[in-house]
Amino acid sequence: MRLLRVGPPGQERPCVLREDGTVVDVSSEVGDYTADFFAHDGLARLRTAVGSQELPVVDVDAERIGACVARPGKIVCVGLNYRDHAAESGLAAPGEPVIFFKAPNTVVGPNDDVRVPRGSEKTDWEVELAIVIGAEGRYLADEDAALDIVAGYAVSHDVSERAFQLERGGQWVKGKSCETFNPLGPYLVTPDEVADVQSLSLSLSLNGEKRQSGTTADMIFPVAHIVHYLSQFMVLEPGDVINTGTPAGVGMGQSPQRFLRAGDVTELEIDGLGRQRQLFVPAP
Ligand code: ZN
Repeated sequence: MRLLRVGPPGQERPCVLREDGTVVDVSSEVGDYTADFFAHDGLARLRTAVGSQELPVVDVDAERIGACVARPGKIVCVGLNYRDHAAESGLAAPGEPVIFFKAPNTVVGPNDDVRVPRGSEKTDWEVELAIVIGAEGRYLADEDAALDIVAGYAVSHDVSERAFQLERGGQWVKGKSCETFNPLGPYLVTPDEVADVQSLSLSLSLNGEKRQSGTTADMIFPVAHIVHYLSQFMVLEPGDVINTGTPAGVGMGQSPQRFLRAGDVTELEIDGLGRQRQLFVPAP
C-alpha cells in the first residue's frame, strides 16, 4: 500500500493511492497516520477497508500533499552511511553507525517550501531513504525481528545547515532541526511493495541539475542492521522515522561548495517511493 496525507497543514486527511492510480480518502475508516494508528493495527484495518469498500476519491493534483506520517515521536538519523559521502565530508567511514537526532517538528510535506534559516550561509541538501517504524522495538533479537517492525519506507530530505552543524560547537542537532528541514513523503510505501530496499536508486537535482545519484546498495549499514542496532540503545516506537544517510554530492562536498539560497529548487526521487520538489524561501 501507498499511504499519503492530503490537505492544508494541520488539516491533512489520511488517504491511500490505489493500484489503479486513484487516491481515496480513508478518514472514515482510520484516524490520521499517527503513532496510535500504527500501534493499533492500522495498516491491517486499512488494507481491509481499501479492498472492500467504496471510498471517496480525492483529486490529489488540486490539493497539497502533507508529510506521510502525522507526527513522528522522534526522528533518528544515521550519519555518514555511504562511503562516498563520508569521503567527501573528509571523514573516515564509521565502524559503528553514527547516530543523531532531528527535532520531530521539522517534518513538512514533500513539496512544501523550505525556509532558509535566519543568518544561514550553508544550508545544504541530503536525499535519504526514511524508515517508518510500525511497532515497538526494544532490544530486538536480530535483523529479521528488526524488519518485522518496519511499517514502510519514504523519501526524506534531511536538510542541513553546515555552519550550525559543524562550526558552532557541540552536536549536529543544531544544524538539522531548523523549521521545515525535513520534507517527508509523498508516500509511506509498505515493505511488500518494495522488492529490495537495498537496491533503490536515489537522486537529487538542484535547479534541474543532478547533484546526487546513488543507490541504497552502497549503504555501509543496511536498513535491518540500523533498526536492530538502534533498538539496543533506545526504544523505537510506532510512527518514529529513521533517516538512513545520504550518498555523495551534497553542497558541502562540491568544489567550489554550493549552498542553498532563496529561489533554489530541489527535486528528489527514490525508485518506487515517489518524488519531492521544494522551493527554498527566506525564513520570515
Ligand atoms: Zn542525513
